[in-house]
Amino acid sequence: MDDLKGVFNEHKIAYFSMEIGLSNDIPTYAGGLGVLAGDTIRSSADLNLPIIALTLVSKKGFFNQHFDENGWQIESYEEWDPSKYAELLEPEINLKIENRNVKVKAWLYKYYSFTKEMIPILFLDTDFEENEPKDREITHYLYGGDEKYRLKQEIVLGMGGARMIDALELDIRKYHMNEGHSSLLTLELLHNYNMDGEKVRNLCVFTTHTPVKAGHDTFPYTLVEELFGDNEDIELLKKYSDSDKLDMTRLALNLSDYVNGVAKRHREISKQMFPGYEINTITNGVHTYNWTCSHFKQLYDEFVPGWAAEPELLVRASNIPYGRVWEAHNKAKKDLIDYVNEKTGKDMDYETLTIGFSRRAAEYKRHSFIFTDLERLKKVNYKGNLQFIFAGKAHPRDEAGKKIIQNIFGYIKELEGQIKIAYLEDYDMELASKMVSGVDIWLNTPMRPYEASGTSGMKAAHNGVINFSVLDGWWIEGWIEGVTGWSIGPKSYEYSSEDKIAKQEIDDFYNKLEYIIIPTYYERRNDWIKMMSNSISMIAYYFNTHRMMRRYVTEAYL
Ligand SMILES: *Cc1c(COP(=O)(O)O)cnc(C)c1O
Repeated sequence: MDDLKGVFNEHKIAYFSMEIGLSNDIPTYAGGLGVLAGDTIRSSADLNLPIIALTLVSKKGFFNQHFDENGWQIESYEEWDPSKYAELLEPEINLKIENRNVKVKAWLYKYYSFTKEMIPILFLDTDFEENEPKDREITHYLYGGDEKYRLKQEIVLGMGGARMIDALELDIRKYHMNEGHSSLLTLELLHNYNMDGEKVRNLCVFTTHTPVKAGHDTFPYTLVEELFGDNEDIELLKKYSDSDKLDMTRLALNLSDYVNGVAKRHREISKQMFPGYEINTITNGVHTYNWTCSHFKQLYDEFVPGWAAEPELLVRASNIPYGRVWEAHNKAKKDLIDYVNEKTGKDMDYETLTIGFSRRAAEYKRHSFIFTDLERLKKVNYKGNLQFIFAGKAHPRDEAGKKIIQNIFGYIKELEGQIKIAYLEDYDMELASKMVSGVDIWLNTPMRPYEASGTSGMKAAHNGVINFSVLDGWWIEGWIEGVTGWSIGPKSYEYSSEDKIAKQEIDDFYNKLEYIIIPTYYERRNDWIKMMSNSISMIAYYFNTHRMMRRYVTEAYL
C-alpha cells in the first residue's frame, strides 16, 4: 500500500467511464464514448492533471467483426490479458449482489504521456475463484447480456468503484461520471456522508451524452431490489431518481453540482429532455497528437513547432505551403487506398475523389443515406467520378443494425462496375485513424438531433480532411459554409417536418456533390487545398481534448 501512495499521491479527480479506449490491444471500448474517455486520459496526462480513471476490465472485450458472403456480420471475441499490461492491486472490496458476496479487485494500468506524466487507470475485475461463476462473468463483456447483467455491471462500476477509492485511501475531491452508467457511486457517497445530499452534490460532476430518451439506462425497482436493495437504499434511489423506476441519468442529475452536455446543441436538447436542471456545455474534442497521421505530424513539426503540447498553435496552419499539405494528404490517401485494395480487391485509385463514412450501425446514423436515389447517385458519379469507403460495427444483439450493414453490401453489388464502394471490416481506433486521414471527404448524415456531438469529423479535420455533414452535434459549431466544409440540409434551428427536412437533406447532398464539391476537387484544386488548410486552422486548433480538459478543470472541477 505504501508504495502505491506515490502513484496515487495527487489524484484528486476520479473519472468513471463504462468504456475507455486506450489502445487497440485493450479492447475495452465500443465506440465514441470510449474513444472520448481515452482521449480525455491522453490529454489529462499531457496536461499533468490530477485524475485517476475507473472502468471495468471487460476481459472478453468488445468483439471483432467479420462478414459472411451475404454481408451478414459475424462476431468473434478475443480475451485480453490484463496481467500483461497492468498490476493487480492488493486491496479488495466486497459487494452484495443477489445476497451473495462479490469480491472486486482492481488492475492498475499506468498511462504515460510523451511528457512522462502518468495517469493511473483502475480496471475493476470480479473474475476471482472466491466468486460464483456467474459473478465472475460480470466484468467480462462490454455492453453484453441483458438488463440484469447491465445493472450488475453498473453496481460494480459505481458502488464498487467508489468503495475501491476508499479502500485505496484516495483523497478524491470530484467524482466525474462520464455518462450515467456509474451513477450508483452517488449511493455509496450518500452512505459515506450520512445521507447528506448537498455534500454529495458538491462532489459530483456529470456529463450526459445521449440526446434520446430511450438511450438513458433505466431499471425497474423490482430488479434493483432483487440485486442489492435493502429498503433504505430503494427509498434513497426513489428520492434522488424517479419514483417508478431507477433512472440513472436522473440520479446523476439530482446529485451533481455540475452537469454538462457535449456540444452546444446537445445542451439545448438536454434541457428540453430534463427541464428544471441547470445544464452547461463543454464541446467534445479529440486528442490532437493521437489522431494526426504520421505525414501531417511531420508537416506540423516543421511548420508549427510545439503543436502537440499546444494544439491551439494549429491556428497558424495556413503557414504551411499548399503543395506540402497536398503532398502529405496524398501520402495518407495512398496508405488507405492500398489498405482497401489489399483487403477488398476493389482496385480503387489514388486520383478519384474519395468519400468516407464510418459509424456504429444505428438507424439514426443513416448509413444508406447516399443510396436514397440510385439514379441520381449514378448521374453525379458519371459527371465526377467518386469512390466510397464504409466501415462500422453493429451491436452483436442488434439485428436491425446488422441489417443496415447488409443493405449496404446489397447496394455495393448493385452498383458494381459503376461506382467503387468498399465496406471495411472491424472498425476500431486503428482503422479509424487510417480512414479519417486517408479520404478526401468525411461524410456524416445523422438524423437530427440524435448526434450529441460526434468526434470522427474532428479527427478528419486534424488531417486536413474536409467535412460534409448534416448540421447536428459539434458540426454546428465547426461549420462555415465553403470555408471549413459543407453542410447537408437546413440549419438546425429552422423548424420543419421530419419528412421535409429529410427531402431537403438528400437534395442538398446530391446538389452540392454535383455542382460544388466535385468541380472544386477536380477543377479548382487550390480552393480545395485552402479548405483543407482551413479545416486544420479553424477546426483542429479548437476541437481537441486539451481545450476540452482545460474547460473541465476551470468550469467543472475547481
Ligand atoms: C472516433 C471514433 C468513434 C466516434 O465517432 P463518431 O463521429 O462520434 O461516430 C467511434 N468509433 C471509433 C473506433 C472511433 O475511433
